[in-house]
Amino acid sequence: MASHELVIEGLRAEVEGREILRGVDLVVRSGEVHAVMGPNGSGKSTLSHVLMGRPGYRVTGGAVTLDGTDLLALEPWERAQAGLFLAMQYPVEVPGVSLEDLFAESFRAAGRDLADVRDRMVAEAERIGFDERFLARQLNVDLSGGEQKRNETLQLGVLRPAIAILDELDSGLDVDALRRVSRRVEEATTEWGLGVLAITHYSRLLHELKSDQVHILVQGRIRESGGPELAQALEAEGYARFGVDESVDGEPAAGVAADPFADPFADPLA
Ligand code: ADP
Ligand code: MG
Repeated sequence: MASHELVIEGLRAEVEGREILRGVDLVVRSGEVHAVMGPNGSGKSTLSHVLMGRPGYRVTGGAVTLDGTDLLALEPWERAQAGLFLAMQYPVEVPGVSLEDLFAESFRAAGRDLADVRDRMVAEAERIGFDERFLARQLNVDLSGGEQKRNETLQLGVLRPAIAILDELDSGLDVDALRRVSRRVEEATTEWGLGVLAITHYSRLLHELKSDQVHILVQGRIRESGGPELAQALEAEGYARFGVDESVDGEPAAGVAADPFADPFADPLA
């Protein structure tokens, strides 16, 4: 089994002169699943972008290494080759490039054998209920939100990275697709020892994908870490105890606390 380690130490970063990440510490090892939860705007996607090296984010402090290699000194494609994978919250449309093109290029660049890529694509698509006709389509072009998320998951399965950052992989997926996608990722943790940093609003992602640790990111800092029960508590209580008011104009935010099936008359202390 692979043994990789992503180490984030005191990571600080700013966007447009505003500090968003204010000292993040996190270690993700092969086979582990770390969930990062937090209210809107707390810096979750910023963390994913800074780790992958997206332009426009300025690292102002701290360090990130993968197996001892300084990731922050690398270009995004070099980080990918080092074994880091990002499933973006909002995947980018790439007109004129198909999934097959993408795999051909990335396998060639990494000196990996292309022979069984097509078979692996088909097998991965089947595992997550992703229609084969999407395989020849232009990358993410005219795909629904849920199809884009399955597209990202398929890439994960074919590329087999060491560490995957999943930014709201559950958004846009219906219940069945969510189950298959999260199960696929969970299986990867034992199949080749994938380490996962799963950013999510909802504990539903974590039903099939078993988190070892849950971290609460608030205003650019991890305020609390704990076991899977922390995600359940958040779903029930929201982020009020971190001093976060999730209501906007008196309406509850489309966030953690809103459970459409909750009993409005239930005694919260019962
Ligand atoms: P989350 O994913 O937790 O909802 P984000 O990381 O997307 O939060 O955003 C955190 C803060 O950083 C927000 O105030 C957002 O407006 C700001 N931000 C993030 N990326 C950019 C960007 N590229 N340009 C300007 N502001 C940004
Ligand atoms: Mg986000």
